[in-house]
Amino acid sequence: MSEETTHRASESGSSSSGHGSSNSGQGSSGSSRPRSGGRKFFRRKKVCKFCTEKIDSVSYRDVNLLRQFVAERGKIVPRRLTGVCTTHQRRLTRAIKQARNIALLPFAARY
Ligand SMILES: [Zn+2]
Repeated sequence: MSEETTHRASESGSSSSGHGSSNSGQGSSGSSRPRSGGRKFFRRKKVCKFCTEKIDSVSYRDVNLLRQFVAERGKIVPRRLTGVCTTHQRRLTRAIKQARNIALLPFAARY
């Protein structure tokens, strides 16, 4: 134990003999920065919008609703950003895809 310490000390001392002053000064100032109460975790409560509003089925016709979960380029916003639960995200995705299909093929199929 003591052997290692001495060995290390001698090694570091010999290596840092040239320009060790500036190096050590920088290092110490950076590492000894006081961490005082900097713990700010953003943990906003994310609850599924559909669960809170008790919307069971997502309709593809509800464009205003769907729009909230679609990015500008028509990308579906990931669940971790919206806070939608898995079940509703799946329904939402389906609804959005349906809406897309309809937008793409407006009156193509008339029964
Ligand atoms: Zn939900």
